[in-house]
Amino acid sequence: MNAEVIAIGTELLLGFVVNTNTTSLGRMLARLGIDCTRQVTVGDNPARLSEAIQTALGRADLVITCGGLGPTVDDVTLETIGRATGRRLILNRPILRGIEARFKRQKIRMPASNRRQGLLPEGAVPFPNQLGTAPGFLLRLKNSKILVALPGPPAEMLPMVEQHLVPRLKKLSGGRILRSRTLKLTGATESEVDAKVRDLLALEGAATVGIYAHPGQVDLRITASGGSEREVKRQIATVERRILARVRGLFYGADEETLEGVVGQLLKKNRKTLAVAESCTGGLVSERITRVSGSSAYFLGSVVSYSNEIKSIGLSVPPLLLRRHGAVSPQIAGAMAEGTRRLAGSDFGLAVTGIAGPTGGSKAKPVGLVYIALNWAGGTRITESLFSGNRAIIRFKASQAALNLLRLHLLK
Ligand code: ATP
Ligand code: MG
Repeated sequence: MNAEVIAIGTELLLGFVVNTNTTSLGRMLARLGIDCTRQVTVGDNPARLSEAIQTALGRADLVITCGGLGPTVDDVTLETIGRATGRRLILNRPILRGIEARFKRQKIRMPASNRRQGLLPEGAVPFPNQLGTAPGFLLRLKNSKILVALPGPPAEMLPMVEQHLVPRLKKLSGGRILRSRTLKLTGATESEVDAKVRDLLALEGAATVGIYAHPGQVDLRITASGGSEREVKRQIATVERRILARVRGLFYGADEETLEGVVGQLLKKNRKTLAVAESCTGGLVSERITRVSGSSAYFLGSVVSYSNEIKSIGLSVPPLLLRRHGAVSPQIAGAMAEGTRRLAGSDFGLAVTGIAGPTGGSKAKPVGLVYIALNWAGGTRITESLFSGNRAIIRFKASQAALNLLRLHLLK
């Protein structure tokens, strides 16, 4: 079964309202294993809406509209569906009584315009609205196509979907399910990852793979459909093994796992402690580490050493070294990492120094240049990176690379 979603509202076209309903409906359909093949947005215009509904019904088995069911003159969905499907609108007494009772409870006289909301296309199955007046409905058409209309406000639409629509669609979709698993990679660009898994991205059939790039991270999402949880899990696991064999150290976790969470687990498992020194990231690395509940078991603390004075006073970085190499240099990154490790008495010291921009860059030291150092009793590792992006992205990428440097060291 395939489906199309039509979001209705001029406010959506103008960008005044973010179209979250389409996202919610897309997720719901995916969860049920129903292919959502198109998502369309139209304004509150009967002619264009009618065309959109008819076109969608010409292609898809299931068409879901949301919005425009209210009592105001700009709400044209009900009449338009009636006309587009050739169904008369008839008064549904139980629905009207429900709407009247709602007004009575709120001690408001019902405006005459609300009577209209008791109308439904002939043959429609009503979905009562617990949180508003406009009911939704499901209409089975002659050619076994299904048209569903839902109200626009998410607070009304979402419970209606769960209560009334999902149970009906479950029966119709024949019990097929769709599941996804996201493998999260860091330390390579999207094109580098793409080169490793290109043939898998072209998989067709029960399991497919998609690639999605974010700052400092590339996700590979495996999606599979089948008749049972077991079958789908097995399909995902097979593709996952093939991917992992190729991406190796780039993979740090799946689905809800975070890089800071994974690093925390590794520190805990190895019974090691960490202290951090941050310049351009201003505390971001430490903030991410402490997002993890229980991080006090391995995280001792950090020094946000933005100025040279704090680098010297707080982290014992020699002023001469700062003068000779400048604050953004491999030497200073190394000295900061060692300084914070000695200050805290931790097993590891992790330091970041760089130029987050947009100002402060030079020919020799451009915006995005970041040095990261990891220091332990037996040695130091220092990396140089040139990150692209705006200030926020460069800072995030630096925090990602710092956490990843520690992760890779702990894996060895
Ligand atoms: P009402 O009875 O409230 O008029 P309705 O079904 O007519 O319900 P609309 O008039 O289309 O709904 O939209 C009402 C409000 O619901 C919008 O102003 C907007 O805030 C929200 N809304 C509508 N469509 C969407 C959407 N696709 N995504 C998120 N919010 C939406
Ligand atoms: Mg409205």
